[in-house]
Amino acid sequence: MAAKAETVSLVGAGLNGPLLALGLVKRGFHVEIYERRPDMRRSRISAGRSINLALSKRGIHALSEAELWDQMRQIIIPMKGRMMHSVTNELTFQPYGKDDEEVINSISRAELNIALMNAAEAQGVLIHFQQRCTGIDPQKGTLQLRDGKTGTNRVLESPVVIGCDGSASAIRGEMLKQSRFNFSQQYLDYGYKELTIPAGTDGKHVLETNALHIWPRGNYMLIALPNVDGTFACILFIPFEGPDSFTRLSTSSAVINFFHSRFPDAISLMPHLADNFFANPTGAMVTIKCSPWHVDGRVLLLGDAAHAIVPFFGQGINCGFEDCSCLLELVDRRGADWERISREFEAARKVNTDAIADLAVENFVEMRDRVADPRFLFRKKVELALEAKYPRLFVPKYSMVTFHRIPYAIALRRGQVQDLMLTELCDGIDRMEGLDWSKADRLIRSRLTPLELVS
Ligand SMILES: Cc1cc2nc3c(=O)[nH]c(=O)nc-3n(C[C@H](O)[C@H](O)[C@H](O)COP(=O)(O)OP(=O)(O)OC[C@H]3O[C@@H](n4cnc5c(N)ncnc54)[C@H](O)[C@@H]3O)c2cc1C
Repeated sequence: MAAKAETVSLVGAGLNGPLLALGLVKRGFHVEIYERRPDMRRSRISAGRSINLALSKRGIHALSEAELWDQMRQIIIPMKGRMMHSVTNELTFQPYGKDDEEVINSISRAELNIALMNAAEAQGVLIHFQQRCTGIDPQKGTLQLRDGKTGTNRVLESPVVIGCDGSASAIRGEMLKQSRFNFSQQYLDYGYKELTIPAGTDGKHVLETNALHIWPRGNYMLIALPNVDGTFACILFIPFEGPDSFTRLSTSSAVINFFHSRFPDAISLMPHLADNFFANPTGAMVTIKCSPWHVDGRVLLLGDAAHAIVPFFGQGINCGFEDCSCLLELVDRRGADWERISREFEAARKVNTDAIADLAVENFVEMRDRVADPRFLFRKKVELALEAKYPRLFVPKYSMVTFHRIPYAIALRRGQVQDLMLTELCDGIDRMEGLDWSKADRLIRSRLTPLELVS
């Protein structure tokens, strides 16, 4: 029988869980969230994974729908472009978009998480902490939970369960037991390590504030995003094994020597580098694709639980928040018909989440390697010039993903067509004066149809 429940249980009070819960409770549902960790507002725990996130158009749109964006914009730092640091300490700035509106925004993961939980609770969502989901029974409509304080287990009746429990989802693990469940996971050979650049003695940023800093080094890279307290959250992305790899960075002196030779201007700003390096865990990065995302409208996956992606397009949470927008729109149309909502949700989203998963892997090569190449920087200039002349026809791939809500699958497809076109137009030239505008006009008009740009 199809689920028509007005009561919904969510597993996971990370970023997507509370945002979705807020939307559901506003639409009249009774929503309870079960979260395995303690309440981060009461005990000092890490919000998990990266300290800060880049928030862009899709995330902002969902936060605006939830009437939270005005509050969030108080705690963001706009990043207008990439600041590239060469090995000889030269700086090159490359804007992300065509104007000051086209920026990405650095935001603290913990602050965002806390704001979302506060907002959800204020509307009546109940969040139960230290409740780990250990299993589900979609046929019986039950959820199994273990209490982290007492160690006791209980079984809860729950007609509809939505798994917002992240990339290592326990709910998805249970769905693997269903027949004909498709699942793939692809780890990168790279890991990541979080590091910090402290604030200067005046409490201010010691590097340009309104930029995402990148030290691209071909096979690996360091990045830094500004925090409102004057610090930068840095992430080193490097292979697990090989000549330049985590296996070689096993002692303090190896780490310090490596940074001295590869990131000389960064190490001078990192007095606690070795301590940081060995105190913080080494993270892995994975792309997860699966289907179906639901069982008979009783159990549904959303966010990283349904589609974990690698972080190189800064889209994980933007994509997850877009999932929330999409699901809530379906609830507006279909009421409590969860079977239909689940089916339509997967049909609308999977093609797009598969596309952003591929785009994110592709962007890794761009960030760690190509951004240091003058030819790449020239192509970026040409892209922006083409966009200025043909705003509805030619929108750079990065902009389609980051500054618009153009479906990811369309951004992927058009991006491929545009990449070929750019290769044809930039071949043999390195100055804007050399650009053949009549050829550009012909290529654009013959290969691209006008885009529908929604705000
Ligand atoms: C290094 C790095 C950098 C990133 N940078 C960006 C960025 O710049 N921009 C961006 O948009 N995205 C970024 N992301 C991706 C982003 O972090 C994720 O897409 C986002 O956190 C997913 O949200 P979620 O709510 O689906 O899962 P999560 O945020 O992982 O939340 C899942 C929640 O479920 C809880 N949970 C897990 N298992 C259970 C269980 N069995 N029972 C109960 N609770 C459970 C967890 O404790 C957690 O609170 C980055 C990711 C990484 C790793």
